[in-house]
Amino acid sequence: MASNLQFLIIPLMCPGHLIPMVDMAKLIAQHSVAVTIVITPRNAQRYGAVLHRAIASGLPIKILQLRFPASDHGLPDGCESVDDLPTFNLSKNFFDACSTLQKPLEHEFNMIKPRPSCIISDKHLPWTAEVAKKFEIPWVVFDGMSCFTQLATHNLCVSKVHEKLADSDRFILPGLPDDISMTKCQLPGLFNPGNSAKAKEMKSVRERVRAAEVGAYGTLINSFKEMEPRYIHEFKKLKQGRVWCIGPFSNSNKNDLDRAQRGSKDSINNNHKCMTWLDSQRDRSVIFACLGSLTRLTPQQFTELALGLEGSQSPFILVVKGGSRTEEIEKWLDENGFESRVKGRGFLIRGWASQVLVLLHQAVGAFLTHCGWNSTIEGVCAGVPMITWPQFAEQFFNERLVVQVLGIGVGVGAQRVIHLDLVDEDEEGMQVKREDVCKAVKMVMDEGKEGEERREKAKCLKQMAEKAIEEGGSSQFDLNRFIEDIRLHTNKGLVG
Ligand code: UDP
Repeated sequence: MASNLQFLIIPLMCPGHLIPMVDMAKLIAQHSVAVTIVITPRNAQRYGAVLHRAIASGLPIKILQLRFPASDHGLPDGCESVDDLPTFNLSKNFFDACSTLQKPLEHEFNMIKPRPSCIISDKHLPWTAEVAKKFEIPWVVFDGMSCFTQLATHNLCVSKVHEKLADSDRFILPGLPDDISMTKCQLPGLFNPGNSAKAKEMKSVRERVRAAEVGAYGTLINSFKEMEPRYIHEFKKLKQGRVWCIGPFSNSNKNDLDRAQRGSKDSINNNHKCMTWLDSQRDRSVIFACLGSLTRLTPQQFTELALGLEGSQSPFILVVKGGSRTEEIEKWLDENGFESRVKGRGFLIRGWASQVLVLLHQAVGAFLTHCGWNSTIEGVCAGVPMITWPQFAEQFFNERLVVQVLGIGVGVGAQRVIHLDLVDEDEEGMQVKREDVCKAVKMVMDEGKEGEERREKAKCLKQMAEKAIEEGGSSQFDLNRFIEDIRLHTNKGLVG
């Protein structure tokens, strides 16, 4: 390899983390840096098509497969991704199983040629910091979140203002460039873990992640300067410059096949009909409703979403992911006659949707999203306004960024985070009614001045996103800066 650099990439095995890290591997390899990505056999199958095409095109990417000891940790055989968990009550088991990969990885390390110059790891795998320490190379964290979230999280950790508040108290997030108001029960799990026994178990995982993260060499972010300039500026200042915003990653998928198979090689079959259906719809008329890879709406809540879309009169695509409640949802769909009523106007996808491919279709007019960070930035890259329905983690922060800071979204009015481990027990109740969904869709699709302004802003952001990862763009600049930093660090080590 021209540069003789090798980056070892270790993703968390969860679509919202693995997908962007596969994209990132491709982006880095395009800069003549060898990349080895560590995954397990099932994930090698799931993401293999995209990776093998990148390798066949000449990119210096290798796949290192490690066996995942699922059954040793009480997980079903073959469960190698968070979205495969039969219930989120098994999250802690999953993280425990992940940490046993440390030994086999250390065993393989010396066989990787050229020797890795750094580890880029998902921040949720704090044991990878120990591997980096052992082999005396920098541990760089990939944080699958925005700089807005980074800054808000840091400021809350330092100020602890939330600790004195009741769940429904509204307050201004401290130290941000904009006045962003929220309630405590909308904050991510680190500040708002819930009271279940399982939530308490996850607290120790979160605390370990947070403790390791503070010692990281630097942070890579899937964002770009033009989208959140003041937040990026502040976060870089806080981290003495060792923050590199090198996104949007999804734009690294330049052809339809990569877009179609992103996240699942099989989605291409599921989605063929969907693309044909989209071809038959008017430009910018369709609502694409997809709540990410992990959200499992209760059957009651799913019903409200479906009826809200029906009531909006807009054509729509609805992605159905029920997890352990799939049967109940299917039963409702059947008994209610929903699909025959919306025939021609509504299209249901069961399972995995080719989200990026769908979003880029000219018939899509708005994205109803749960505001996972990947979905948020993919919505920005598609240049469509968003209908925001945050569910868990930092998704309420992302909603604030989309609605308030960027001015390209309308909220459905979600009030508090969902605790995923309680969905199966029906303890999360219902937050959003069909009228809320319908109203938000109508506002976003409105042809008046406000709707037009939102659409214009979304279009501008799309153009900025495209430029950021092109030659001379801000994210290219940061990626070069990152590679140079590691090169200097590596050379210093060789001399010293
Ligand atoms: N995704 C997809 N098809 C689906 C569901 C999700 O392609 O049916 C992709 C989506 O494009 C995004 C990722 O999965 O890249 C989900 O990540 P995000 O951060 O938005 O949410 P999470 O799934 O982590 O809640």
